[in-house]
Amino acid sequence: MEFNVAQLIKENPGSSKYYTLSDNLISSKNHCVSQSPVLAPDSDISLSGTAKMLRTDAGIWVTAELSCEVICLCSRCLNAHGRRLTVVIDEEYYLSTYSTNDFDIDEGQFISNDNILDLVPSIRDHVDLELPLNPICREDCAGICIDCGLNLNQHQCTCKKSF
Ligand SMILES: [Zn+2]
Ligand SMILES: [Zn+2]
Repeated sequence: MEFNVAQLIKENPGSSKYYTLSDNLISSKNHCVSQSPVLAPDSDISLSGTAKMLRTDAGIWVTAELSCEVICLCSRCLNAHGRRLTVVIDEEYYLSTYSTNDFDIDEGQFISNDNILDLVPSIRDHVDLELPLNPICREDCAGICIDCGLNLNQHQCTCKKSF
């Protein structure tokens, strides 16, 4: 998800470029997309979609819509299951030479000195926002018996239910 935007930076404000994106990233690695505990550890995150990059006075405005497939752990039975998220990016990235008094701008919002624009920090923020807090593998997931630890979707346990 790194783009060399040297060419676009040389062009006048208003110029734009379109990209088709497709990438596989791994959760919980250095350059990770998310460290959310609801994601299966070291699972693949596949991203695909399109991005428009528009040269602005201060840098490049990115609008992108990505379809993102992640593997979540069920909060009831811990079963790993696939989930599709939509990530929409609509953000300006600034030239490394751009000086501003706006201290709210995150480091990740800058294009590097060698003209690399990295979308991973934005994608990470959006994936974390889109992930459900308590994913379940299916609506009627029976979960795990708290007494014997059996997955009740697959087995019927003999523990007495005490109320
Ligand atoms: Zn489940
Ligand atoms: Zn049981």
